[in-house]
Amino acid sequence: MKALVAVKRVVDYNVKVRVKSDHSGVELTNVKMAINPFCEIAVEEAVRLKEKGIVTEIIAVTVGPQAAQEQLRSALAVGADRAILVQTDDEVQPLAIAKILKAIVDAEQPQVILLGKQAIDGDNNQTGQMLAALGGYAQGTFASKLTLADGKAQVTREIDGGLQTLSLSLPVVVTTDLRLNEPRYASLPNIMKAKKKPLDIKSAADYGVSTTPTIKTLKVEPPRERQAGVIVKTVDDLVSKLKNEAKVI
Ligand code: AMP
Repeated sequence: MKALVAVKRVVDYNVKVRVKSDHSGVELTNVKMAINPFCEIAVEEAVRLKEKGIVTEIIAVTVGPQAAQEQLRSALAVGADRAILVQTDDEVQPLAIAKILKAIVDAEQPQVILLGKQAIDGDNNQTGQMLAALGGYAQGTFASKLTLADGKAQVTREIDGGLQTLSLSLPVVVTTDLRLNEPRYASLPNIMKAKKKPLDIKSAADYGVSTTPTIKTLKVEPPRERQAGVIVKTVDDLVSKLKNEAKVI
């Protein structure tokens, strides 16, 4: 059985993002980029399924600029077998990503399709759900456990105040939550081997998908600066400040 894993190139989660001076987005020049953390978890899960002998081939896919080959090579270094870069310099929105992924699913026929629950740049949390809807596939979102047996996927989902376990028919779309697994680091020999693994370069037009945006970002603003704290001397001072300055009591 094949597994398809969608990985997105995003600003590394350790980077403190800065809003552009014209408020049109965040600064990306000379900023460290990485695989979206939830996509790393998706790759790791596919690799574990392969190690268990359930999955036979893992295909990593990204839609993004030429430089996104780096993130595909990282996925190949931890165990993906081949990669597809759908190259574009446009900022492609979730519906178009989902349409491209649907076309790749049609061509490759994977039984398990793994995505992150959300990309930490746009925080959309839409692509997996849209892909499942476009293809009419079962979906298990926010997965904290995945098992595949007897032609079914069993997905445990993190929901408000508890866990929900679902049995889903294949092909299935699974979006990963933080507790699904802990991704491994790539070893140096595997990083070297990954350079020789196949990486196909395609365009959105190859899949008949337009990347013209349907959503326009009007404004991006940084969070308000926090004010410095003060140490009060007495409880009366504290009560007075809460009443008269913070106006919360
Ligand atoms: P989002 O819906 O944008 O929050 O993204 C959810 C998941 O969809 C990500 O974790 C990826 O698995 C997948 N995804 C989103 N954008 C892309 C992209 N440009 N290329 C490949 N996968 C993507």
